[in-house]
Amino acid sequence: MENPGINSENEYCVPVSDLHMPVIRYDAHGQRRYMNRAAVTTMSAASEGSGVLFTDAELLSPQTLRHYLDAIREVATTGVARELELAFDGIRAAQREHYFVQFVTDPVRDGDRCVLAIYFDITARKRAEAKLRERESFLESLLDTIPIPVFSKDREGRYLHLNRAFEEFLGITKQQFVGKTVFETSPYELAKTYFAMDEDLFANGGIQRYEFTARNALNEMRDVEFSKAVFHDGQGRKAGLIGAILDITERKRAEAEQRAQYERILQLNKSLEDKALELSEARAQLMNVLHTIPDMVWLKSTAGVFMLCNHGVERFVGKSKAEILGKSDYDFFDAGLADFFREREKAAIDAMRICVNDEWVVSPATGERTLLETRRLPVFDAHGAVTGVLGVARDMTERRRFDETLARREREFRTLVEHSPDTVARYGLDFRRIYINPTFASLAKGGAEALIGKTPTEYPGGPNTVLYEEQLEEVFATASDREFELKWGPAEGRQLCHLIRLTPELGPNGTVETVLAVGRDITELHASREKIHRMAYFDALTALPNRALFNEYLRQTISTSAHGRLTAVMMIDMDRFKGVNDTMGHAAGDELLREAAGRLLACVRPGDTVARFGGDEFAILLPEVPDRCTLEQISAMIIKRLDERFLLAGKEVFISCSLGIALYPIDSIDAEDLLSYADSAMYLAKRSGRRGFRFYTKDLTIKATAHLLLESELRRAIDQGELELHYQPQVSFRGAEVIGSEALLRWNRPGVGYISPNQFVPVAEETGLIVDLGRWVLREACRAASEWNAGGGARHTVAINLSARQFQTRDLALMVKDILDETNCRPEWLEFEITESVLLEEDDSVTSALLAFKNMGLSIAIDDFGTGYSALSYLARFPIDTLKIDRTFVQRVTTDRRHAELVKAILSIARCLGQRVVAEGVETMEQAAFLDVHGCQVAQGFLYSKPLLKPDISSLPRYLSPSAAAHGEA
Ligand code: C2E
Ligand code: CA
Ligand code: CA
Repeated sequence: MENPGINSENEYCVPVSDLHMPVIRYDAHGQRRYMNRAAVTTMSAASEGSGVLFTDAELLSPQTLRHYLDAIREVATTGVARELELAFDGIRAAQREHYFVQFVTDPVRDGDRCVLAIYFDITARKRAEAKLRERESFLESLLDTIPIPVFSKDREGRYLHLNRAFEEFLGITKQQFVGKTVFETSPYELAKTYFAMDEDLFANGGIQRYEFTARNALNEMRDVEFSKAVFHDGQGRKAGLIGAILDITERKRAEAEQRAQYERILQLNKSLEDKALELSEARAQLMNVLHTIPDMVWLKSTAGVFMLCNHGVERFVGKSKAEILGKSDYDFFDAGLADFFREREKAAIDAMRICVNDEWVVSPATGERTLLETRRLPVFDAHGAVTGVLGVARDMTERRRFDETLARREREFRTLVEHSPDTVARYGLDFRRIYINPTFASLAKGGAEALIGKTPTEYPGGPNTVLYEEQLEEVFATASDREFELKWGPAEGRQLCHLIRLTPELGPNGTVETVLAVGRDITELHASREKIHRMAYFDALTALPNRALFNEYLRQTISTSAHGRLTAVMMIDMDRFKGVNDTMGHAAGDELLREAAGRLLACVRPGDTVARFGGDEFAILLPEVPDRCTLEQISAMIIKRLDERFLLAGKEVFISCSLGIALYPIDSIDAEDLLSYADSAMYLAKRSGRRGFRFYTKDLTIKATAHLLLESELRRAIDQGELELHYQPQVSFRGAEVIGSEALLRWNRPGVGYISPNQFVPVAEETGLIVDLGRWVLREACRAASEWNAGGGARHTVAINLSARQFQTRDLALMVKDILDETNCRPEWLEFEITESVLLEEDDSVTSALLAFKNMGLSIAIDDFGTGYSALSYLARFPIDTLKIDRTFVQRVTTDRRHAELVKAILSIARCLGQRVVAEGVETMEQAAFLDVHGCQVAQGFLYSKPLLKPDISSLPRYLSPSAAAHGEA
């Protein structure tokens, strides 16, 4: 073989020749130029000892050769070293050796670039690798043959391998698991546990074994046992774990079964032990019982010798058990008695059954004669032969005595019952009387004969006796007591009321055999109770139901009212009833109310309830009214009937009424609401001209709410000082001299301006706030009066309006006095204006307040005179100084003749009674002239001045010309 490179070793002086690895030098075309000794050996050895040096083309397959030459050419041109792994795959496999070849450039003198190929023998490594692969696949097949699921994971927890059993157990394929962690293959919670266990194993090493449950391919929960161990890599580092899963479900089941079996045996054992204990205890107890029973118990042989005895025998004989056993009756009793006992024992033996005898025996222990009830019973052995006699004796002495006492008692009770003022009867199961006492007999018409053997319905009969028998039936059925009231008439014309008490009498087997009936006469009690009821629920004057009963009926009606049915509540108030009462006296007032009640009753249907709530206030409850129209008709009828004249003490009197209606369930379903709504409606009817009726509407409540709001606003206004007093001068007609002024209240409401008292005084009156308001006005006005009168010049009287409501406070006069003192105001500087209605109230507080005022030196004016109830009599009765002719009269004096006449009449009355007259609301010169001519002294009105603020009054000239109206409202 031609190989030029081989000869030139000398010119190439590198120590590669001695290297033990083959080194070959190539030129840029892949021609060998030099081979070291190792290379020659290797390339020749491949020829199986033929000594021939193989070429690269012979050693390498065409494909490998191509890669080889490519590598040489590449290194030659680029100069960058390269590596190649190859086998001599051109020759027989047996000789095939594996090399790792490194190509590096090798510069030479002539400038040609050569390439060195350095061979590293890796045959051994390659073989080992192949072996390993073989082993692995062997192991894998081996594992696959194991029926236990086995798996391995790397240190990061990724499945490395798992066997077929594993696949089958979980019903998965290797591909689904290998390379994945438990977090990708199991639900999160489970994966967390697995992971924790794995980490634990990595931390602690050893073999980890634990029981767990797992769901298998058939979706069954199985008990399993995990066994896991860590495996290490070549360097001894933990490389992963290998685990096996053992299905231990069957084993566990068997274990549990075994345990249960064992428990059952234990239980059985225990209960047997308990039974044994119980038995021995029972035996001991039996003896104890024998000892504790008061009876004597003994056992004697057929020969009459005591074999057994209890404490009872010891006590009776007065000897101990040791002294008794083995002896006979002849040792304790006299011979005659002992003989008697022997005879009895023999008789029991002969009779072969229990024999009972009562026998009087003297106790050897106490010497007392004792009545014994003795039972003797022959006792047999296992073969049926008589072995002795068992005796039980009971001391019956006390019992006998008790029976005797009982019989005596019975006699006593009988006497008691026979003489009892209560009726006593005993009823049998058929409700017939077995016994009655004389009291009962005396009540009935036919006496005892009529009653005995009869049922209540047979005698005395009547509807209530049916009820009576029902009660009897109950007592028989339930064996419980019964108490009830019974009204009955034993004889004509007599009505009795009895409180009956039924008591069951039980027979020996516990069932009711008879019923004892005891009746107490409560006829009188009943009568007085009814009277009290009438008094509590009915009005004495009219005999109508009162408010309480009406409320009761109303509630009942509401609770039982059928769906969709209307119930009406009507409130009725007499207009001007007070006048009648005042002028004609109370007797006439009562008569009027009675008559009115009768008329009301005549207007309603039989099922309706007319009630009197007190005073002149009536209410009507109308259940089941078809519609409003019917109510309108009834209302109109009531109004018409009450409009008709009343004849009282021979005099004709006319009143009228106002009526308010609320409807259930339209307006409310609440009884209280209905009443107050009807009341509101009634007030509205009254206010809108009387003699009419109104249905309740929601507005009324809204109005009431608005009132409440206004009230709280007003309270705030007082606190915030938003109220002002203005003063309207009063002048004398003669000379137009300012002689006083009237204090008029104003509410200077922020953002609104002045609010007229007409708008808020009525609310304040209704709510009672007027009392506080009035006190404030009084104090203000008194301060003004003392200021203006301080100088001692001409007097300036301040007129103050008092509302009726203020008289209802008891200490009005006292309050006035306190304020006068406080403000240094003299009484003669003030005049109180009240309306006629105050006088008509005619209660003591008004009279006494007015008298107190008079006594203090205050003067009193009647405001709005002529508009109210013209019952002039009060003018004489009360201390009145001034009449104020109402504005409405004044304003018509020049236009309306009748008003002119009226004013003239008022002026002449005042003249007669010595009263001063103030004309209110004088606006024109004509009015002033008329009033002046007819004797009116004082004028008040816009003609002279509008109401002014306090400082403006101070600076007012003493004489006002009528043109002063220019002063204007402050
Ligand atoms: P009253 O007592 O009849 O007061 C007279 C009313 O007539 C005042 O109305 C007054 O401003 C008005 N007036 C006076 N002159 C004329 C006139 O020439 N033409 C017209 N058209 N009206 C005139 P005011 O101040 O609105 O008071 C209304 C009512 O409020 C008073 O009527 C009185 O009943 C009540 N009132 C006012 N202040 C008080 C008070 O302090 N306490 C009480 N309880 N009520 C008061
Ligand atoms: Ca007034
Ligand atoms: Ca007036």
